Amino acid sequence: MAMNDLSTSLTYLKGVGPYKAGLMSSELGIRTFGDLIEYFPFRYIDRSIVYKPNEVSPGPTEIQVLGVLSEIKLLGHGSKKRLTARLNSNNSTIELIWFKGVKWIQKSINPGDQVIAFGRISNFNGNLSISHPDLESINSFKKNDFSGMYPVYSSNEKLSSSGLNSKGLAKLIAELLNNIGDHQFDWLPESIVKNKNWPSRTIALKEMHYPKNPKRLSIARERLAFEEVFLDQLVFAYKRKSHLASHKGFIFSKLRPNFNNFYKNILPFELTNAQKNVIKDIRENAASGLHMNRLIQGDVGSGKTLVAFMSILMAIDNGHQAAMMAPTEILAQQHYSSLTPWAEKLGINISLLTGSVKKSARKIIFKNLASGDINILVGTHALIEDPVIFKNLGIAIIDEQHKFGVAQRAKLRKKNNPAPHILVMTATPIPRTLAMSIYGDLDLSIIDELPPGRKSIKTVQRTDHNRLQVWGFIKNEIIKGRQIYIVYPLIEESEKLDFKDLMDGYESIIRDFPRPDFEISIVHGRMKSEDKQWEMQRFINGETQIMVSTTVIEVGVDVPNASVMIIENAEKFGLSQLHQLRGRVGRGGEKSYCILITGDKLSDNGKIRIDTLCKTNDGFQIANVDMKLRGPGEVMGTRQSGSLDYKIANIIEDGELIEWSRKIAESIVLNDPKLEKKDNEKLRQRFSEYSRHKIAWGSVA
Ligand code: ADP
Ligand code: MG
Repeated sequence: MAMNDLSTSLTYLKGVGPYKAGLMSSELGIRTFGDLIEYFPFRYIDRSIVYKPNEVSPGPTEIQVLGVLSEIKLLGHGSKKRLTARLNSNNSTIELIWFKGVKWIQKSINPGDQVIAFGRISNFNGNLSISHPDLESINSFKKNDFSGMYPVYSSNEKLSSSGLNSKGLAKLIAELLNNIGDHQFDWLPESIVKNKNWPSRTIALKEMHYPKNPKRLSIARERLAFEEVFLDQLVFAYKRKSHLASHKGFIFSKLRPNFNNFYKNILPFELTNAQKNVIKDIRENAASGLHMNRLIQGDVGSGKTLVAFMSILMAIDNGHQAAMMAPTEILAQQHYSSLTPWAEKLGINISLLTGSVKKSARKIIFKNLASGDINILVGTHALIEDPVIFKNLGIAIIDEQHKFGVAQRAKLRKKNNPAPHILVMTATPIPRTLAMSIYGDLDLSIIDELPPGRKSIKTVQRTDHNRLQVWGFIKNEIIKGRQIYIVYPLIEESEKLDFKDLMDGYESIIRDFPRPDFEISIVHGRMKSEDKQWEMQRFINGETQIMVSTTVIEVGVDVPNASVMIIENAEKFGLSQLHQLRGRVGRGGEKSYCILITGDKLSDNGKIRIDTLCKTNDGFQIANVDMKLRGPGEVMGTRQSGSLDYKIANIIEDGELIEWSRKIAESIVLNDPKLEKKDNEKLRQRFSEYSRHKIAWGSVA
């Protein structure tokens, strides 16, 4: 039996016959020793430490808590009958609850008993408790020799009925671990392991199953999590390197006349430090001769458009054209209107191309684009259609990256040969480490600062019962000269119903806010594009005070005078969408408000979303909560490139580890690209297996 070869078939393990092997393969995907050894417990029973009530927190692990019993009470009747008690130590306390066998338990315990309660801590309305703890007197506990932590494996009925419940699996895994002995499976460079003082891979694997205590577990976990993310980061590092080697970029070395002139004479405000830093990143990148492929993240209102414009000026100063693509017609229009006054002052030609541009006008645009007379083309995905041919496209900017697919990004790149520099901008903040994992082949710049003078937006939750009060409030704001958004959800699955909500809402708003004192705009997806445009424009001009709409205004629309955002049925929206919507206000100097109107009863998840919005304006914090509620894969709507579904590592919680692995990967690719050094010998083999399907190995070195 080859216990030192993890690719050995499971049938060679003592206790596993063909039947069990087949079952484990079909139910759990476990076929080899290696698969089984990496079937990690989903929780542990922790007999390693005795906690006090003030030291515990809710979690999946069963733990031991020492204290003195008090307030033993029998409550409720019939099926609601339960026994409760308090477990106390030094002024701290947790609750113990039993629903079954209460009479018998009541008889066996007394106030003043010193006991060890064993179970899982849960959190009920802020009170920590254990349901159905095992109790043991301190004396009998001292006689026991429980010590370490014990694994609990997930199983299912089919497996359990063949003896492969958690205990059965534990037995097989223990057998395997015993037989492996001290055989080493390490492949990480020794220097990394030394630096972190990690245990060997074999010990780490063993301690994932049978840790001596939580600290040892977390060290074992750290090593194995690192191995997972490190391999991916190494793939990315090679990809970035081969990208740089094969893609020469245009060199934007000149910053005049336009860039400098704009910066010194036209820019109406001081750049924020964050904007300066990002522009510096871009300048260095675009002057280096290397092709730029960069993601700019910045919360709504952080001033990404301006950064885009100044990057465009770099291209123009060096004899190139620029393109800027937005996901919706309204947003493209908005970009066009904000860039036009600046472009005009500089004598630069800018045009707008969207689906609704007429054929004749389109022809003229195509002609002027090909001749180079148009310097900047702003538009929707109409930009990437075949007849659009640039004379010399030097930079392409994509706003709201997540609304476009990889294919569209690629098409825009192909609009010029050699490829234009690419900037993608997103207002959906992604934790840095997540960005590194999914857009690992992009460079990253972050605008983490809002322009000065922005007041934070006060956010509150209201229900239909508060309708009169809310209407009174917005009347007041309108009298003060402010403008109001009222947004209704429009969700594809229930589109008809939602649309009715919107129209009903609109009718009643018209009734409550009559002309001539109030003018109201409405914009929704079923309107013709010109009508939408016209209504938007009236609101932008300040001719209407209220904008009733669906989420079409979600991205980009900029009306600094708008100070109140009302979101109807707010519980129907996702967190990041709510945050985006809220970002439509608070753009001027006025105190701004966001009122989330919800039903009376919210789901747990809905409550967390609404509470989070009321508590914070920080997009990154909101993104983190969103990520925890929905999981990173769901949030990003993509499973491209880097894996979001690691076995051990957690993209959000292991941020630092991922950062570190990226640095290490980068330095390896720089210093030993062919992995020839002794330290990288085993890594070379492991990595070539891992990356076989991910990169063309030949192009690497
Ligand atoms: P984003 O696209 O990042 O959501 P915008 O580029 O639309 O944000 O900018 C929001 C608003 O802030 C715009 O009105 C813009 O002119 C203004 N702005 C941008 N940068 C600054 C700055 N440094 N100081 C003051 N206002 C700024
Ligand atoms: Mg924007």
